[in-house]
Amino acid sequence: MFPKKILIVEDESIIAEDMADSLIALGYRVTRIVYSGEEALESAAEERPDLVLMDVNLQGEIDGITAAEEMRSRFQIPVVYLTAYADDNTLRRVNATKPFGYIVKPFEEKNLHTTIQLALHRHQYDSLTNLPNGSFLREQLSRILDNQKQLRGLIPVVTLSLDRINRINSTLGHDMGNFVICSIAQRLNNCNDKINIVARLESAEFSIVFEPVKHKQDAVNIAQRILEIVAQAILVESCEVYVTASIGISLYPWDGSDADELLKNAYTAMYHAQEKGGNNYQFYAANTANYSMNKLSQESCLRNALKRSEFEVYYEPKVAIKTGKIVGAEALVRWNHPEMGRVSPGEFIPMAEEMGLIAPLGEWVLETACKQTKAWQAQGLGPLRVAVNVSARQFEQKNITERVSEILTETGLAPKYLELELTESLVLEDETAVFQAFNVWRNLGIRVAIDDFGTGYASLSYSKRFPFDVIKIDKSFIRNITEDRQNAAITIAIIQMAHCMNMTVVAEGVEDEQELAFLCAHDCDEIQGYFFSKALPKADFEALLKSGKRWDF
Ligand code: C2E
Ligand code: MG
Ligand code: MG
Repeated sequence: MFPKKILIVEDESIIAEDMADSLIALGYRVTRIVYSGEEALESAAEERPDLVLMDVNLQGEIDGITAAEEMRSRFQIPVVYLTAYADDNTLRRVNATKPFGYIVKPFEEKNLHTTIQLALHRHQYDSLTNLPNGSFLREQLSRILDNQKQLRGLIPVVTLSLDRINRINSTLGHDMGNFVICSIAQRLNNCNDKINIVARLESAEFSIVFEPVKHKQDAVNIAQRILEIVAQAILVESCEVYVTASIGISLYPWDGSDADELLKNAYTAMYHAQEKGGNNYQFYAANTANYSMNKLSQESCLRNALKRSEFEVYYEPKVAIKTGKIVGAEALVRWNHPEMGRVSPGEFIPMAEEMGLIAPLGEWVLETACKQTKAWQAQGLGPLRVAVNVSARQFEQKNITERVSEILTETGLAPKYLELELTESLVLEDETAVFQAFNVWRNLGIRVAIDDFGTGYASLSYSKRFPFDVIKIDKSFIRNITEDRQNAAITIAIIQMAHCMNMTVVAEGVEDEQELAFLCAHDCDEIQGYFFSKALPKADFEALLKSGKRWDF
């Protein structure tokens, strides 16, 4: 593999040289060191680096943030910012450009390396099909929407899943499965000049954003055409293989105002197409209305759900690698809707946030989880820890810090048994409020964890200001860890770095023995995931505790 090329834009030459030395020692190639935004853009045009390290405060006409914007829009080169301790205003501007990461100066070599690895990982194209990946598509779509304020027309957002690909994998082998996926990727990419971007999301899932169309009927034609293209025979070693697809479509602006919503709704429609047996397309809304209730009535249901005791806390075991024993649980809320059945938190937490209901719901989860954990401890089931998720919107609630300590007092749970999980992006969104709460909690002896690590802006430098107790590696890195060398390298780097900073490392979403073996071998501390158990209702979790179950690694 060729070393990755990095351009350094930094006007303090000592720092720049120092950084260049570190990068070279880490196996990167430094294309050049430049001192201004203008030079940076020239150099990027000539040398096309894989990544740019960009000082936020540059002298000259073009400052670092403007130069970074240009890097992305003109050259699609990911940028990692370099900042000295930054004020809130600068941070806000930096975050608004959705950076691929940033590094606080003076930098540490380990931080530098991991942040760059994460940034390159987020930016990569899918190596099997050479298509962009989902996060690239999402960003691209956001950019398209930002530029579409006066759009006349509809933007079709399509998600597509190949039906029964697992059968091809199991009958013809994975190589053939991959061959089929690549052929389809190629066909999609060449099928229609109205395509704006095609990306591969997961194994056999693609997403396509089209140029604006005039009528919904145009989107119908597009979908029919895709079904035909996919259905054409694929020649594999002189035998013909046939696949079909399930297609979901959402239309901007009807079915959503931002990239996340449009993609989510296209997904919902795609599931609907799958449920209809595959080889068909479905639009969001019109056809899914029967499935998901309309938002209004769902909202009024959610409003009453707390009163009606429709929420339930489930517990997902956390297992310590050293002992193979359950050391704690993550509390995960479930909504048992009287008609719809179990609704996933992925669906109703964002809604609760939007509606301002997350504060009472969050408090209820916290209270329930603390009370329950204390009860288990009192039964002699061990010095159990409980982890509770805290969402960004809960910080808008002024007294969140006090509420946490009140709940501990009320329930009698010792603070050291409580762990609060915050996501990376949350920390950056409202730095000041989080920083204050963080200090109060740490002083009380509550443990604070950074959740879904690696999915947000990789801001390892923040661990200086926010000395987290626990880092939770996101499940997307754990997936295929034994086959995906990049995921493996990143996971190892995160573990080592976290240990240097005295943090406990938890891996989430561990599903099989290979993943577990890898994490054991690389010194991860705690594991969560379906390999051990899904999140369980309290009675089942209690039974598991009582069984004294212990895993042998
Ligand atoms: P999270 O905090 O990252 O929680 C982990 C999610 O991954 C849980 O999904 C869990 O059931 C799932 N998971 C665990 N092991 C595996 C595995 O081996 N494979 C796979 N594919 N998935 C696994 P869940 O319960 O659906 O929760 C989704 C998200 O909803 C959570 O992500 C969390 O961000 C949010 N959430 C759940 N409960 C609460 C809550 O009480 N308050 C807040 N603010 N957010 C919550
Ligand atoms: Mg969590
Ligand atoms: Mg998580």
